[in-house]
Amino acid sequence: MDFSSARKSMVEYQLQARGIQDADVLRVMGKVPRHLFLPEELWNYAYEDHPLSIGWGQTISQPYMVAIMTELLNVRPSDKVLEVGTGSGYQTAILAELAHYVVSIERIKELAEGAEQRLKDLGYSNIKVICGDGSLGYPKEAPYDAIIVTAGSPEVPDSLKKQLNEGGRLVIPVGGTNLQVLLKIIKKKDDYLIEKHTSCIFVPLIGSEGWKRMADN
Ligand code: SAM
Repeated sequence: MDFSSARKSMVEYQLQARGIQDADVLRVMGKVPRHLFLPEELWNYAYEDHPLSIGWGQTISQPYMVAIMTELLNVRPSDKVLEVGTGSGYQTAILAELAHYVVSIERIKELAEGAEQRLKDLGYSNIKVICGDGSLGYPKEAPYDAIIVTAGSPEVPDSLKKQLNEGGRLVIPVGGTNLQVLLKIIKKKDDYLIEKHTSCIFVPLIGSEGWKRMADN
């Protein structure tokens, strides 16, 4: 399979055609080899527009969702970004292409370790992967210019809001376990602006400020 032209088609027909306009987002999604974040038996499906299994009951998000969330996050080259839900590390790589530095936190140790190695092998040197409960953020490196949560939360975790820089953006799916709405929260002095965007379906954010009952199991 010619992965490079599959990627080009993905950008043109799944992202641009559906309204993604940010030239930097389109450029990096045309560059990062999504298939290398998947088990080899799934490589032929890597550039189709749907989530795929990455083991441990988790998924790599569909390309359109990665694109829209990244576009909403408005990442600048000087930004420090926090990602909650490293999964395969694909979204992490997209962020690392756009930002100065990315901290990514994943609760499943095997996924965190796999992503860390994969990102290192691909040559990324501006990423720190942490294993832990990202619903609490990562205060050690706060504040962040942008925070992205790639798992669905029942509400917006206060800890994440508090770790935003002035003017910082938080993009997070919020709602029930079967359907959420993508929210963008912008910190303005002591207040937060909230924008509602598209509906989406994510695996649950499991943790102290996410779905707590699942965290106790
Ligand atoms: N962005 C990922 C990618 O590109 O592959 C996909 C993320 S997947 C949809 C959501 C991830 O969030 C899962 O790997 C899951 O284990 C993780 N997760 C769920 N709750 C979490 C928490 N409290 N802290 C950190 N990671 C969490």
